[in-house]
Amino acid sequence: MSEWVGPVISCHEISKFYAVGDGLFALRDVDLEVEKGQFVVLMGPSGSGKSTLLNILGGIDRPSHGEVILKGRKFSRLSEDDLAIMRRTEIGMVFQFFNLLPELTAVENIGFPMRLAGYTDKEVSERVSFLLEAVGIEDRQNHYPSELSGGEQQRVAICRALATKPSVILADEPTGNLDSARSREIMELFSKFNKEEDQTFIVATHEPSFLEYADIAVKLRDGEIEERRDKYGRLI
Ligand code: ADP
Repeated sequence: MSEWVGPVISCHEISKFYAVGDGLFALRDVDLEVEKGQFVVLMGPSGSGKSTLLNILGGIDRPSHGEVILKGRKFSRLSEDDLAIMRRTEIGMVFQFFNLLPELTAVENIGFPMRLAGYTDKEVSERVSFLLEAVGIEDRQNHYPSELSGGEQQRVAICRALATKPSVILADEPTGNLDSARSREIMELFSKFNKEEDQTFIVATHEPSFLEYADIAVKLRDGEIEERRDKYGRLI
């Protein structure tokens, strides 16, 4: 298949309205275009809409208005089944609270999306070993999530998101539960995969130090994009 040309993922005029109380816009008129291999950092105070935006970009939540386009395919035109397939092959998500399957070991959790996508046993075992080594938890591979520390669970969750080499990795506060040394390691890891496998990252974080990795830094406030800067800190 020929390489996709154009933004790998984009969203146009995204709004998300929740009809609670007097009603609330979690997002309002958000536009974002991300090229292949870019590293996007989403900043903004708690409640500014970061998780909502990631969930909409990841196709696990639908917007009230607007469109998400991944490699030229509009989410609104896809059936739930087609969207699920697209998610499985093109998107890797790292959640704030890991969402590992408790009855599977680290190795099995990481290999799970690969098995769903039809990889062979050999491919699964090679990729899983490579990822475990990259994040430095080979010695924990047969442990269940309940037997792992928060930092270890987070690294397993990251390996799982990277397993199928998806085009886009969406990470929601991926270092929220880690100390600053571990946080740094995770961001270095993202940066390494971003460079070596040309994967696109969109990462929501509270940590201003992560801005040094950003090709695009987006600041959200009350569901709207307040500011957008390039890697030189220029407003765009
Ligand atoms: P952030 O990730 O920046 O902390 P969120 O995207 O989680 O922000 O939330 C944005 C706003 O939307 C918040 O005001 C939050 O309370 C609201 N919100 C999020 N999910 C729901 C929901 N399911 N129902 C009602 N309001 C929600």
